[in-house]
This record gives sequence, C-alpha cells and structure tokens, in this order.
Amino acid sequence: MKLRKSAAVAVAVLALTATACGGKEGSAGDKPAVKPGDSSAPQLPKYIVATDVKLESPTFKEAQKRGKLLIGSKADQPYLGFEDQSTKERSGFDVEIAKMIAAGLGFTEDKIEWETIDSKSRESTISAGKIDYYVGTYTINDKRKAQVGFAGPYYKAGADLLVRKDETAITGPQSVKGKKVCSITGSTPLQEIKKPEYGAQTVELGKYSDCVQQLLTKQVDAVTTDDAILKGYAAANAGKLKVVGKPFTEEPYGVGMNKDDKVLRDKISDILEANIKDGTYKKIYEATLGLSGSEYTEPPALVRY
Ligand code: GLU
Repeated sequence: MKLRKSAAVAVAVLALTATACGGKEGSAGDKPAVKPGDSSAPQLPKYIVATDVKLESPTFKEAQKRGKLLIGSKADQPYLGFEDQSTKERSGFDVEIAKMIAAGLGFTEDKIEWETIDSKSRESTISAGKIDYYVGTYTINDKRKAQVGFAGPYYKAGADLLVRKDETAITGPQSVKGKKVCSITGSTPLQEIKKPEYGAQTVELGKYSDCVQQLLTKQVDAVTTDDAILKGYAAANAGKLKVVGKPFTEEPYGVGMNKDDKVLRDKISDILEANIKDGTYKKIYEATLGLSGSEYTEPPALVRY
C-alpha cells in the first residue's frame, strides 16, 4: 500500500523542515524544535539483530518464509510515525519501536516492508493478515481486543486538545461547547469528544494531518487526539499551534497483531521487556518523542494475557 502524497502531509514536511531551520518554539516550554535524526538530536541506539530465532508462531513462520516483515504504521505523525515524502524515510518513536521489535525477531531494517495504515483500517487490516504487526499510537482496549491481539502497553498517552497559538477560549475539554473540534475516524479521542457532555461540533476526517491543516486555515477551532501526537504537530508548526495540556482520557499504546497468535504476542512482550530493561527504549524515546516536548516517564507495566 503506498501513501498518496497529500497536501496536508506536504505541509507537515515543510513545517518540520522550517522548524529545523531555526524555529524556536516547541509545544511544551517553547524549546527549539529538533527533529529525530538531526545532528543535534540524541543518537538512536543500534538494535542487535537476533539470530536463529525459532518461534511456533504462524505469523512469524510466514514472515520467515517470505523473508520480509510486514509492519503497519502511521506516516503523518511527526516524532511518532512519520514518512518523509521526498526521501521515503520513516522516523519517530513508533517507527523505532517497530524496528527494535523486528531486530528481536531476527529481521534487519532492509527486510522490513512498511504499510501506512490509518486508524480506521487497523482492525480490518490486521484481521485480514495483511501485516505481521502494527505500531502506530494504537490504544489497547477491550473492544479492539475482541478483534486483534496486543503486546504492551509500551507507552501511556492521553487525549488532549491542539489549538492555534492565540486561542484563549479553549482551555480544556469543558470549554469546547459549540466549537468545531476535528478528529479522525476510528480513533478513541473522536468517540470521547462526541459525547454529548462536551457539546462540541465534531468534524471527522481520515488523517490527523488533514485536521491540523483545517486548524491552521481556521476551518476548525481545535484538534483532539493523544497528547503525544499533538505535541508533535505543535513542535512541527512552531509558533502557530499549542497543546492545551489537560489530558482527559488514558491511551495505553500496544503493538497490534493477529488475535490468536499468542506465541508472537508473548515474544514481542519479551522483546519490549528486555529493551526497556537495558535502556534501549529510553534512548529511542529521547531521540524521537522526547524532542517534541514530552518528558520521559517510565513505561507502564506490561500486561500479558
Ligand atoms: N490512541 C488513539 C487510538 O488508538 C488515538 C490515536 C490514533 O488514532 O492512532 O485511537
């Protein structure tokens, strides 16, 4: 699956480039915006590629047979899951977590085939066996667990609001009554903000970058999704956007995969655990998500089932 070059993503790329060339304001504390991979950014760790991995997992055996790992991720979330439209290079926290897992399974980076999958298509793509696993701000919840398996959580985010820098009326979820709030189909923050108690006029699009574009052009008043994602957009659009900073849900991120492949799920949990313990996870965080103004916190305890 190829990502169509959308105008919104192009804007995000331009914004990332612009901030890298001297933008001074980030989302939290107005730190200078440094992108993952910049020379001034912390170095990413090197992943040790496991050898002779044997696993009674149908997904893994299929991947070994084809000699490629099919990984689903996002492409329009700076600092998390981002694809540069000119170089086709992917960067961000989720991208690195996915590569780290691939190494633990014995796959080098050149053996990864990436698929860009937006929120609304995750369950159907995984259930149809089109990818081996998915890493892309994917909240673990019971409804999704009925369709897919999750290893994790490996990070805990919370829904928040992104507004224009000069916005003063929107100070939290209790002040969006009558306001146009954009989010995307198939996401948990969209379900949350649709609740009548908030009284928001919701605008539902397919990609967060499209919501951000509408915020910049004043077609909507706010964008809601996880704080981690919003901080990335704020940093990428320095001086124009800010995150309100009042998280109002809990969004534990998991690695999505086939519901019945417990062997793969356990193996990915083992890989996450080992990399958290040896400090690789923290190094990844500091070289990616940490650059957008999200302070490092210890990851939540893994839940095995
Ligand atoms: N974490 C939320 C979810 O899984 C929002 C982010 C996203 O759409 O990926 O629905």
